Amino acid sequence: MIPIKLKIHTWPAAVLRKKCKPVTVVDDNIRSLLDQMYLIMMTNDGVGLAANQVGLDIQLVIIEFKNKLFKLINPKIIKKDGNFNILEGCLSFPGLELEIKRAKQVWISALNELGEEITIEADDILAVIFQHEIDHINGICFIDRAPFWQKLKYKLKGIKNIKPVDKKGIKTKESDRL
Ligand code: ZN
Repeated sequence: MIPIKLKIHTWPAAVLRKKCKPVTVVDDNIRSLLDQMYLIMMTNDGVGLAANQVGLDIQLVIIEFKNKLFKLINPKIIKKDGNFNILEGCLSFPGLELEIKRAKQVWISALNELGEEITIEADDILAVIFQHEIDHINGICFIDRAPFWQKLKYKLKGIKNIKPVDKKGIKTKESDRL
């Protein structure tokens, strides 16, 4: 059932570590959740929001950048290229900004609101937003990808329980000890 009210969950909420489940049927419930997520994102001045940031264990992502709105279901990165980084923030980490090494160009496959398969190509800032949000639904937060020299920033904020990821974006076993 549709939760009546969604809210942003901030670190260290356990749901941010969830590898979200794929959506099997794209119906009015899903479209309603996407609409609710969009409203929350707008209210919080965000450019991207993943379902587990509002406590939902399903693969939904909302992105709005330069008047282009994406409501994506089960999004996946199918190809990436180049390097690009900007200062990233996250609605689940208020006040924290980190510069993360990302791909400059990404190709995404997803379902749209009608359940149709789509492919999107994005570069630069939009590519970073896609990578940030798709990380979220895989239980990965941007602190996990921060370079060593930036760790001081979140350590100063008392952020713990970082789980480094390997090159494929899969959490390493060693990370559980950190
Ligand atoms: Zn985020």
